[in-house]
Amino acid sequence: MEDRRSDNIFSSSQVGWLTACAVAVVAVGLGVLARLALAPLIQQRGTFIFFVPAVVAAAAFGGLWPGLFATLLGAGAALAADAHSGTLGIGNFVGAAVFLLIGASVALGGRWSQTIRRRSMSANDGVAQREAHLRSILETVPDAMIVIDEGGVIQDFSRTAERLFGWTAEQTVGKNVRMLMPSPYREAHDGYLERYRRTGERHIIGIGRIVVGERMDGSTFPMELSVGEMRRETERKFFTGFIRDLTERQQTLARLQELQSELVHVSRLTALGEMASALAHELNQPLSAIANYLKGSKMLIDRGGIPPERISDAIDRAANEALRAGEIIRRLRDFVARGETERRIESLSKLIEEAAALALVGAKEHGIRIRFEFAPQADRVLVDKVQIQQVVLNLIRNAVDAMEETERRDMVVAIHGLDRETIRVTVSDTGPGINATIADALFQPFITTKRTGMGVGLSISRTIVEAHGGRIWVEPNEGGGAVFHFTLQRVGQELFSDDQ
Ligand code: ADP
Repeated sequence: MEDRRSDNIFSSSQVGWLTACAVAVVAVGLGVLARLALAPLIQQRGTFIFFVPAVVAAAAFGGLWPGLFATLLGAGAALAADAHSGTLGIGNFVGAAVFLLIGASVALGGRWSQTIRRRSMSANDGVAQREAHLRSILETVPDAMIVIDEGGVIQDFSRTAERLFGWTAEQTVGKNVRMLMPSPYREAHDGYLERYRRTGERHIIGIGRIVVGERMDGSTFPMELSVGEMRRETERKFFTGFIRDLTERQQTLARLQELQSELVHVSRLTALGEMASALAHELNQPLSAIANYLKGSKMLIDRGGIPPERISDAIDRAANEALRAGEIIRRLRDFVARGETERRIESLSKLIEEAAALALVGAKEHGIRIRFEFAPQADRVLVDKVQIQQVVLNLIRNAVDAMEETERRDMVVAIHGLDRETIRVTVSDTGPGINATIADALFQPFITTKRTGMGVGLSISRTIVEAHGGRIWVEPNEGGGAVFHFTLQRVGQELFSDDQ
C-alpha cells in the first residue's frame, strides 16, 4: 500500500492538467514556428491566429486552467514573434488583450464542455452499474424472466429461463414467444395479444395464472406466470413475464393424493379384516346349500324313478346359491380393489343397498332390524362409488357394533333431499350413543373405544365426504343411540332428461 501511494505523486486530474499544459506548450511552439516561417509574407498581421489552436486544444483536454495557461503563453509568444518582425506598437498590445479575452472565454467553454462530458460519463456509468445489478438479481431469483414486445417477439431471455426451457437466449431472442407454449395456446397467443391491444382488457397482466409451458425437447410442464407491462421509448409497449416451474409442487400434491388414497384403501382392507369371520360365514352359507342340493339330487338319481322335474328343481336352487356366492365375492372384490379414484354419476340408493348388503353380514343373527327409507327424487350423485360405499359400510358396521349390548336393535338407513343442491344420508341406531370421553375428537384418527378397533373408520369417512364437497356429523338419537348424517352434492335433474 505504502509503495503504491508513493508511486502516484499526481492524482488523475493533475495528470490531465499536466498533459493539457504540455499540449499547450507544444501547440504554442508549433504556432511560433509557423508564424516565424511565414514572417516574410505576413509581417505582423494575424499573429494571434497561430495560437488559437493551442488554446482550444488545451481547454478541450484540460479545461479552464490549462486553457488560461495556453492563452497567456500564446499571447506572450505572439508578442515575442511580432517583436521579432518589427517594433511593437499599441496595436500589438490591443491585439494581445483581445486574444486574452477570447482565450479566457474558450477556456471557460472548455471547462463547461468538460463538466458535461464528465456528468454524462458518470450517468452512463450509473446506468450500466444499475443494469448489471438488476441482471445479477434476475439471474439469481428462482423465477425465469422473459420480456416480449407487443407483437410477442422475445427481447430478453434470462439465464433461469434458459435452464427452464432448454433454449438459449440466442436461440429465442427475436423469435415469437409462442415457441414456448404447446398447442392450442401456441396458435392462440397472437390472438390474445391482439385482443389486448384492441380492448385493453386484462386477462393475465397483473393477475397471474397457471399455464402450461413447452420445453425445447417438446415436454410440457405446469408453470405460474405473472406478467407486467411497461412502456419504453415512445409508444412501444413491452411485457415482462415471470415464470415459476410448478412441477415440483405438482409432484408433491400428487404424492399427497396418492398417500391419501392409499390410506383410504388400507382402511377398507382393515374394515374387511375386522369382518373376515362374518364374511367367511356369509360365503359358507351358499356353499353348504350348494353341497346339500347337489348331494340330495345325487340321492334322488341313485334311488331312480323320481320325476326329473324334482331333480332339475334342486339343481336350479344349487345354481342360484352359486350365483349368490359369486355376487358376494364380486362385491368384495370391487370393494378391495385399489382402482382409480373416479367420479361417476351414480344411483345413491343402489350404491347404499350394495354397501349395506356387505356391511350387514351376520346382522340378522344378532337380531338387528333394519329399515331403508329412500326418497325416490333424491338419488343421483356424482361420486366415487367405492369410496362412498366405504363411508356407508363404516357407519353401518359402527351401528351394528354399538347395538351389540343393547336390548332394542333398530337401524334406519335413509336418503333425504335437503335442497336443490344437497342430499343427506342418515344412519341411525339404538345403541348407547357416543361415549362422552371421545365425542369431541370423534372424527380424528385413532380414536376408538373398541378393544380391537383401529379408530380410523370415521376419520377416513370424513376425508372422503369432504373431498366430495359434503359434511359429516353426528347427533344423539331420541330415546338413545346415535344418528350419523353426511351430505353429498346432488346432480341436477336436467342432466338426466333422457332417463326421466
Ligand atoms: P373404530 O370403529 O375402529 O373404533 P371408528 O373411527 O369407526 O373406529 O369409530 C371411532 C369410535 O367412535 C368408536 O370406537 C366408537 O366409540 C365411536 N362410535 C362410532 N360410531 C358409533 C355409534 N354408532 N354409536 C356409538 N359410538 C360410536
